[in-house]
Amino acid sequence: MLSPREAVRTLPSYHPPLAGRDGLRLDFNENTVGCSPRVLERLRQLGPEQLARYPERDPVETTVAGLLGIAPPELLLTNGVDEAIHLLCETYLEPGDEALIVVPTYSMYRIYMMAKGADVISVPSGKDFVFPGNDLCNRITPRTRLIAIANPNNPTGTVAPREDLLRIARAAPSAALLVDEAYFEFYGQSMLPRRPEFPNLFVARTFSKAYGLAGLRIGALVGDADQMRAVRRVSSPYNVNAVALACLPEALNDQDYIQRYVSEVRESRARLERALEASGIRFWPSQGNFVLARVGAAASFVEHMRRRGILVRDRSGDHGCEGCVRITLGPRAHADRLLTALQEALEELGIAQGASRP
Ligand code: PMP
Repeated sequence: MLSPREAVRTLPSYHPPLAGRDGLRLDFNENTVGCSPRVLERLRQLGPEQLARYPERDPVETTVAGLLGIAPPELLLTNGVDEAIHLLCETYLEPGDEALIVVPTYSMYRIYMMAKGADVISVPSGKDFVFPGNDLCNRITPRTRLIAIANPNNPTGTVAPREDLLRIARAAPSAALLVDEAYFEFYGQSMLPRRPEFPNLFVARTFSKAYGLAGLRIGALVGDADQMRAVRRVSSPYNVNAVALACLPEALNDQDYIQRYVSEVRESRARLERALEASGIRFWPSQGNFVLARVGAAASFVEHMRRRGILVRDRSGDHGCEGCVRITLGPRAHADRLLTALQEALEELGIAQGASRP
């Protein structure tokens, strides 16, 4: 009888709650408004010829590499950062190898690592989700082949100090170190300028968040040219679809749009953090387009918000996130709606004014 590999048989399945998302989408860290109008204009121009052809990735890779100030062989466009993670697992992990992650973090690292039969070692964050730089270094062994770090981290919004990331890259020369910068635009600091010093360092970016293109599925992986040659070998030559490739240059050309969006989100983030502080709700200052907050009864909070037309994400099942929800920020008008609903929900649930302080 046909049976999947053992690693796959024992793999937990991950079902993000995508069904019935009616309301203001503050649950998946997407752009809450949508992409630049220039992208929509480009979409309207697409005809059957563009869809009939197999997509050609190279010219768009050259454009993106140019904008990032790197050589084209150092960059691979991917079907979102998810595919970049998957490709790194394919390229570097053998069954029984060790792979390191920090918890809590983005779920797909563990899933793709486990699917390769790797031993996934979870290093818990410190108090207040401080990046566990020392603990992580202490867990590096000669069997460590992949280390994945989201910076800023999801769902906490906390960041890893650059010095820690450099120390890890130095301490694990035989491991691929992925610094996942999915939320780079909201943070502003990157490991890209230091990338050339480390042949084992990879940086991933996505167009799913600030750029509002989560549905197109496009991201980028940057690494040492020799290493990227190996990564390309395990990738489909057609991994990024023609529509995404046609739209990406337009999205990148409209930097004003991104800057405006990012600055409004940062302002909304500060407003939400002030509101949580005033209500005595514990939260962790975030560098992403979202904030993690300990509301206590997370599931009923999510339900109360849903009734008011606002979708937020229950993260109470994540390591160290008991009673927590993650709330995505959008521009001003969306923050207005969020803050009104938040106040009402907190009052109705009786969890405002210090009730959830430890
Ligand atoms: N990395 C992190 C840290 C994320 O939070 C997410 C999305 N939630 C992703 C990667 C996935 O991004 P993409 O849509 O590019 O696959």
